[in-house]
Order: sequence, then structure tokens, then C-alpha cells
Amino acid sequence: MSIKGKVVVITGSTSGIGLGIAKGFAQAGVNVMINGLAESEVIEGILEELRDYGIKAIYHGADMTQPAQIKDLISSTVAEFGALDILINNAGIQKVAPIEDFPDSSWDAIMAINLSSAFHTTKATLPVMRRAGWGRIINIASAHGLVASPFKSAYVAAKHGVIGLTKTTALECAEHNITCNAICPGWVMTPLVEKQIEDLALSRAMSKAQVKTDILLKNQWTKKFVEVEELSATALFLCSQAAQNITGTNINVDGGWTAA
Ligand code: NAD
Repeated sequence: MSIKGKVVVITGSTSGIGLGIAKGFAQAGVNVMINGLAESEVIEGILEELRDYGIKAIYHGADMTQPAQIKDLISSTVAEFGALDILINNAGIQKVAPIEDFPDSSWDAIMAINLSSAFHTTKATLPVMRRAGWGRIINIASAHGLVASPFKSAYVAAKHGVIGLTKTTALECAEHNITCNAICPGWVMTPLVEKQIEDLALSRAMSKAQVKTDILLKNQWTKKFVEVEELSATALFLCSQAAQNITGTNINVDGGWTAA
């Protein structure tokens, strides 16, 4: 069974991993609803690139901190495309600080964007998938959904929460041909990580190259950054017929990080 012609919503797909997944799905002939915070020229450029694959691509600017806007993202997708087969919860932000100094507003924003948004999209999407009798939900968690690092309290808590939501969702829809799984990437070179490299280089008086090798790739045993194309391929596999019995679990694409 091919997923050509199906419809995917990818939150936070104007950059990094979400954008890579959008391109991979467009290449596979899947129509794409993209979302994220970006300048209109950037969005137009992305839509043009996606449409070059011969699929329908639309942008919705829902802010993932706003449940009403998230609901509108899902209902607009169904209205515009006539279906919603695949949901990829990917939007995320990061803040690095010790707990004592962690701003309350950053905790709230990370919980809203990295965790609660996946609840709201899933809640609005499940009735559509149940009616269609088929669906795939993929949550982009993180190695930090399985293990912790200091100074990332909100991120680690939210990503552990995403894994819990993934398991619960899987059980609630298992008999309806709907699967729900998490992908847990290790370090991927995206704007979210580039910012952390800059901050670490400054705070530790190290070069950016040293930060990459001595800090980031220290626990990534392959000593390679994960490529967005690898995550897109993993997501496509989870949407295939071969993965119909894979549900409620996580696939770690982390260079061995969480094995140690
Ligand atoms: P990124 O910063 O490149 O992209 C994040 C996307 O989320 C962007 O499109 C941004 O516009 C969007 N976004 C942010 N706030 C939003 C909001 N309020 N409403 C709507 N969209 C919003 O980051 P990335 O590295 O591609 O991260 C994507 C996901 O992958 C995140 O959930 C992140 O936690 C996860 N992840 C990243 C890595 C990594 O090493 N880069 C590792 C593991 C997990």
C-alpha cells in the first residue's frame, strides 16, 4: 500500500527536522499542510519547493501555544484537502538554564509547544482518522524523552511527557488502524541546535568545533550528527504497511546515545 495522495500535517515544518520531513513526504507524493513561525517569503519559497514534487501544499500559521488555533489548523486541513491521514507533531523550542534560574515563562512555553500542542492536535485529529479507518500519528520526541541532561528541565520533562502521550494514544486507537509512535532523535544540526552551540561556545570559552566534538557528539557514539533525511525516512517507514503493528513505541535515531 502506497501513501501517495494521502495528507500529512506537520507542526513546526518551516525549519529543521519538520521541513526535512515535509520534503521527504512531498517526494513520496503526500500532500502537505505546513506550519511554523517564519517570514512570508520563506513560507512561499517552501511551498513552491514542495509543490515542485507535484503535490498540494498549504501553510497554516497556528501558534502552538494557542489551542483554538491548533483546532483551526486541523479543521482547515480537512476543509482544504478533504482528509487528514498523517499527523506529525514536531514543533519544539529549547531553553537551557539551571532550575533555580529557569524562567517560569520559558517552562510554560516549552510545555505548551513541545507537549500540550501534541495533545491538542491529536484530540482534534483522532475523530477524522477514526472515520477514515486509517491513520498515523508520529511524535518527534528526543533522546531527552528517555534520558536527561542538566539545565534542560522543561525540555526533558516535556519530551518524557510526549513518550507517555504516544503510548496512551496508541492504546486508545489501536483497533482503528491508527498507530502512534515517537521518533527520538539525537543531535541534528538545525537552527535549534546551532543556537545551543553558539551559547555553549560563549559560556565555556570554546570554539564551535570543540563544542560539537567534545560536548554534543560525546554521547553520540557514531560521532555523526543525525541528518533530517534519516528522520524523514524513519517517519515514512512508520506510515508503511510493514509498520502496521508498530505502535506505542519509540524509534531512537541517536547514534547509540541512549544505549549507553
Ligand atoms: P527548529 O528550530 O529548526 O524548528 C522548530 C520549528 O518549530 C520551526 O518551524 C518553528 O517555527 C516551529 N515553532 C516554534 N515555536 C512555534 C509555535 N509557537 N507555533 C508554531 N510553530 C512553532 O528545530 P528542530 O531542531 O528542527 O526541532 C524540531 C523538533 O525536533 C523539536 O520538537 C525538537 O525538540 C526535536 N528534536 C530536535 C533535535 C535536534 O538535535 N535538532 C533532537 C531531538 C529532538
